[in-house]
Amino acid sequence: MERQTWERVDEYFTGQLLGPDPVLDAAQEANALAGLPAIDVSPAQGKLLHLLARTVGARRILEIGTLGGYSTIWLARALPADGELVTCEINPAHAEVARENVARAGLGGVVDVRVGPAIDTLPTLDGPFDLVFIDADKQSNAEYFRHALRLSRPGTMIVVDNVVRGGRVADTYNSDPDVRGTREVAEVIAQEPRVDATVVQTVGSKGYDGFLLALVRQDA
Ligand code: SAM
Repeated sequence: MERQTWERVDEYFTGQLLGPDPVLDAAQEANALAGLPAIDVSPAQGKLLHLLARTVGARRILEIGTLGGYSTIWLARALPADGELVTCEINPAHAEVARENVARAGLGGVVDVRVGPAIDTLPTLDGPFDLVFIDADKQSNAEYFRHALRLSRPGTMIVVDNVVRGGRVADTYNSDPDVRGTREVAEVIAQEPRVDATVVQTVGSKGYDGFLLALVRQDA
Protein backbone atom coordinates (compact mmCIF):
# COMPACT_ATOMS: atom_id res chain seq x y z
CA MET A 1 0.00 0.00 0.00
CA GLU A 2 1.19 3.51 -0.85
CA ARG A 3 2.17 5.92 1.89
CA GLN A 4 -0.07 8.44 0.13
CA THR A 5 -3.06 6.18 0.92
CA TRP A 6 -2.20 6.08 4.65
CA GLU A 7 -1.97 9.85 4.66
CA ARG A 8 -5.34 10.28 2.93
CA VAL A 9 -6.99 7.88 5.36
CA ASP A 10 -5.38 9.65 8.32
CA GLU A 11 -6.65 12.98 6.98
CA TYR A 12 -10.15 11.55 6.49
CA PHE A 13 -10.47 10.17 10.03
CA THR A 14 -8.80 13.18 11.58
CA GLY A 15 -11.37 15.38 9.82
CA GLN A 16 -14.26 13.13 10.88
CA LEU A 17 -13.32 12.33 14.46
CA LEU A 18 -11.12 15.13 15.77
CA GLY A 19 -12.54 18.36 14.36
CA PRO A 20 -10.86 21.75 14.23
CA ASP A 21 -8.41 22.50 17.04
CA PRO A 22 -6.91 26.02 16.83
CA VAL A 23 -4.88 25.53 20.04
CA LEU A 24 -3.07 22.46 18.72
CA ASP A 25 -2.67 24.07 15.28
CA ALA A 26 -1.05 27.07 16.99
CA ALA A 27 1.30 24.74 18.88
CA GLN A 28 2.40 23.08 15.65
CA GLU A 29 2.91 26.48 14.01
CA ALA A 30 4.97 27.70 16.98
CA ASN A 31 7.08 24.52 16.82
CA ALA A 32 7.75 25.04 13.10
CA LEU A 33 8.54 28.74 13.61
CA ALA A 34 11.04 27.83 16.34
CA GLY A 35 12.67 25.29 14.02
CA LEU A 36 11.68 22.20 16.02
CA PRO A 37 11.68 18.95 14.04
CA ALA A 38 8.19 17.68 13.11
CA ILE A 39 8.62 14.48 15.12
CA ASP A 40 5.64 14.95 17.39
CA VAL A 41 2.80 12.45 17.37
CA SER A 42 0.10 12.89 14.72
CA PRO A 43 -3.30 14.34 15.68
CA ALA A 44 -4.91 10.89 15.59
CA GLN A 45 -2.12 9.47 17.77
CA GLY A 46 -2.43 12.41 20.17
CA LYS A 47 -6.13 11.69 20.49
CA LEU A 48 -5.33 8.03 21.18
CA LEU A 49 -3.02 9.05 24.04
CA HIS A 50 -5.73 11.37 25.34
CA LEU A 51 -8.32 8.56 25.27
CA LEU A 52 -5.93 6.14 26.98
CA ALA A 53 -5.34 8.67 29.76
CA ARG A 54 -9.09 9.05 30.22
CA THR A 55 -9.58 5.28 30.12
CA VAL A 56 -7.22 4.78 33.06
CA GLY A 57 -8.75 7.78 34.86
CA ALA A 58 -5.35 9.47 34.94
CA ARG A 59 -4.76 12.10 37.60
CA ARG A 60 -0.95 12.08 37.26
CA ILE A 61 0.88 11.60 33.96
CA LEU A 62 4.60 11.32 33.27
CA GLU A 63 5.97 12.09 29.80
CA ILE A 64 9.58 11.48 28.74
CA GLY A 65 10.36 13.60 25.65
CA THR A 66 8.42 16.87 25.41
CA LEU A 67 9.59 18.54 22.18
CA GLY A 68 7.18 21.49 21.76
CA GLY A 69 4.48 20.02 23.98
CA TYR A 70 2.12 18.72 21.30
CA SER A 71 1.54 15.31 22.94
CA THR A 72 1.78 17.05 26.33
CA ILE A 73 -1.30 19.11 25.49
CA TRP A 74 -3.25 16.08 24.30
CA LEU A 75 -2.41 14.20 27.50
CA ALA A 76 -2.89 17.11 29.89
CA ARG A 77 -6.36 17.75 28.49
CA ALA A 78 -7.39 14.37 29.91
CA LEU A 79 -6.53 15.46 33.47
CA PRO A 80 -8.87 16.87 36.08
CA ALA A 81 -8.27 20.50 37.16
CA ASP A 82 -6.16 19.31 40.12
CA GLY A 83 -4.22 16.77 38.01
CA GLU A 84 -0.52 16.90 37.17
CA LEU A 85 1.63 16.12 34.17
CA VAL A 86 5.42 16.04 34.55
CA THR A 87 7.29 16.09 31.24
CA CYS A 88 11.07 15.64 30.81
CA GLU A 89 13.01 17.45 28.07
CA ILE A 90 16.76 17.69 27.58
CA ASN A 91 16.74 20.64 25.20
CA PRO A 92 16.07 24.00 26.90
CA ALA A 93 14.91 25.58 23.62
CA HIS A 94 12.33 22.80 23.14
CA ALA A 95 11.21 23.18 26.74
CA GLU A 96 10.73 26.93 26.32
CA VAL A 97 8.54 26.46 23.24
CA ALA A 98 6.60 23.74 25.08
CA ARG A 99 5.96 25.98 28.08
CA GLU A 100 4.58 28.69 25.80
CA ASN A 101 2.37 26.23 23.90
CA VAL A 102 1.09 24.68 27.12
CA ALA A 103 0.34 28.12 28.61
CA ARG A 104 -1.53 29.13 25.43
CA ALA A 105 -3.55 25.92 25.76
CA GLY A 106 -4.56 27.01 29.29
CA LEU A 107 -2.72 24.06 30.85
CA GLY A 108 0.15 25.87 32.54
CA GLY A 109 -1.32 25.05 35.95
CA VAL A 110 -1.14 21.28 35.49
CA VAL A 111 2.02 20.84 33.38
CA ASP A 112 5.50 20.84 34.89
CA VAL A 113 8.30 20.85 32.27
CA ARG A 114 11.56 19.52 33.76
CA VAL A 115 14.66 20.45 31.76
CA GLY A 116 17.63 18.09 31.69
CA PRO A 117 18.51 14.53 30.70
CA ALA A 118 15.53 12.38 31.68
CA ILE A 119 17.89 9.86 33.22
CA ASP A 120 18.81 12.54 35.82
CA THR A 121 15.26 13.81 36.33
CA LEU A 122 13.50 10.46 36.74
CA PRO A 123 15.25 9.40 40.00
CA THR A 124 14.07 12.69 41.59
CA LEU A 125 10.37 11.94 40.94
CA ASP A 126 7.89 10.29 43.27
CA GLY A 127 5.11 8.05 42.00
CA PRO A 128 2.67 6.83 41.40
CA PHE A 129 1.80 8.05 37.91
CA ASP A 130 -1.31 6.67 36.21
CA LEU A 131 0.06 6.87 32.66
CA VAL A 132 3.64 7.13 31.41
CA PHE A 133 4.45 8.12 27.81
CA ILE A 134 8.03 7.29 26.74
CA ASP A 135 9.06 9.27 23.64
CA ALA A 136 12.66 10.54 23.99
CA ASP A 137 16.03 9.05 22.95
CA LYS A 138 15.25 5.48 22.00
CA GLN A 139 18.61 4.08 23.19
CA SER A 140 17.49 4.71 26.78
CA ASN A 141 14.05 3.10 26.43
CA ALA A 142 14.80 0.14 28.68
CA GLU A 143 16.07 2.42 31.45
CA TYR A 144 13.02 4.68 31.03
CA PHE A 145 10.75 1.66 31.25
CA ARG A 146 12.42 0.56 34.52
CA HIS A 147 11.80 4.02 35.98
CA ALA A 148 8.23 4.03 34.65
CA LEU A 149 7.57 0.75 36.44
CA ARG A 150 9.13 2.05 39.67
CA LEU A 151 6.85 5.11 39.42
CA SER A 152 3.71 3.10 38.64
CA ARG A 153 0.79 1.51 40.52
CA PRO A 154 -1.35 -1.49 39.57
CA GLY A 155 -3.35 -0.29 36.55
CA THR A 156 -0.77 2.22 35.28
CA MET A 157 -0.55 2.33 31.49
CA ILE A 158 2.97 2.66 30.05
CA VAL A 159 3.17 3.66 26.38
CA VAL A 160 6.41 3.50 24.38
CA ASP A 161 6.39 5.36 21.05
CA ASN A 162 8.17 4.58 17.77
CA VAL A 163 8.76 0.91 18.41
CA VAL A 164 8.35 -0.28 14.82
CA ARG A 165 10.81 2.08 13.16
CA GLY A 166 9.64 1.42 9.61
CA GLY A 167 9.85 -2.33 10.27
CA ARG A 168 13.56 -2.30 11.15
CA VAL A 169 12.81 -3.51 14.68
CA ALA A 170 12.37 -7.02 13.28
CA ASP A 171 15.96 -7.08 11.95
CA THR A 172 17.89 -9.09 14.54
CA TYR A 173 21.28 -7.75 13.48
CA ASN A 174 20.36 -4.12 12.84
CA SER A 175 23.03 -1.99 14.55
CA ASP A 176 21.09 1.31 14.59
CA PRO A 177 21.17 2.36 18.28
CA ASP A 178 17.48 3.33 18.10
CA VAL A 179 16.56 -0.13 16.84
CA ARG A 180 18.79 -1.75 19.48
CA GLY A 181 17.17 0.39 22.20
CA THR A 182 13.73 -0.61 21.01
CA ARG A 183 14.56 -4.31 20.90
CA GLU A 184 16.12 -4.02 24.37
CA VAL A 185 12.97 -2.51 25.90
CA ALA A 186 10.83 -5.20 24.23
CA GLU A 187 13.08 -7.87 25.76
CA VAL A 188 12.93 -6.27 29.21
CA ILE A 189 9.12 -6.07 29.02
CA ALA A 190 8.86 -9.65 27.78
CA GLN A 191 10.67 -10.81 30.94
CA GLU A 192 8.70 -8.54 33.28
CA PRO A 193 5.92 -10.43 35.11
CA ARG A 194 4.39 -7.24 36.55
CA VAL A 195 3.02 -6.06 33.16
CA ASP A 196 0.85 -7.33 30.32
CA ALA A 197 1.90 -5.81 27.00
CA THR A 198 1.23 -5.64 23.30
CA VAL A 199 2.14 -3.57 20.24
CA VAL A 200 -0.07 -1.64 17.83
CA GLN A 201 1.56 -1.01 14.46
CA THR A 202 0.49 2.31 12.98
CA VAL A 203 0.52 3.94 9.55
CA GLY A 204 -0.52 7.47 8.73
CA SER A 205 0.92 10.96 8.38
CA LYS A 206 3.96 9.86 10.43
CA GLY A 207 4.72 6.87 8.19
CA TYR A 208 4.98 3.29 9.43
CA ASP A 209 5.62 2.93 13.15
CA GLY A 210 3.89 1.78 16.31
CA PHE A 211 3.18 2.01 20.02
CA LEU A 212 4.01 -0.55 22.68
CA LEU A 213 1.36 -0.62 25.43
CA ALA A 214 2.13 -2.16 28.82
CA LEU A 215 -0.44 -2.33 31.61
CA VAL A 216 0.81 -2.84 35.15
CA ARG A 217 -0.99 -5.88 36.54
CA GLN A 218 -3.37 -5.61 39.50
CA ASP A 219 -1.31 -8.26 41.35
CA ALA A 220 2.01 -6.47 40.65
N1 SAM B 1 6.41 13.62 22.69
C1 SAM B 1 6.63 14.70 21.74
C2 SAM B 1 5.36 14.91 20.93
O1 SAM B 1 4.81 13.91 20.44
O2 SAM B 1 4.93 16.08 20.78
C3 SAM B 1 7.76 14.40 20.80
C4 SAM B 1 9.04 14.10 21.51
S1 SAM B 1 10.41 14.01 20.39
C5 SAM B 1 10.10 12.54 19.53
C6 SAM B 1 11.71 13.56 21.46
C7 SAM B 1 12.14 14.65 22.43
O3 SAM B 1 12.95 14.04 23.43
C8 SAM B 1 12.97 15.77 21.80
O4 SAM B 1 12.45 17.03 22.10
C9 SAM B 1 14.34 15.59 22.43
O5 SAM B 1 15.04 16.80 22.65
C10 SAM B 1 14.00 14.91 23.75
N2 SAM B 1 15.10 14.12 24.31
C11 SAM B 1 16.08 13.44 23.63
N3 SAM B 1 16.92 12.87 24.47
C12 SAM B 1 16.49 13.16 25.72
C13 SAM B 1 16.95 12.86 27.02
N4 SAM B 1 18.06 12.12 27.20
N5 SAM B 1 16.26 13.34 28.08
C14 SAM B 1 15.13 14.08 27.90
N6 SAM B 1 14.66 14.41 26.68
C15 SAM B 1 15.32 13.96 25.61
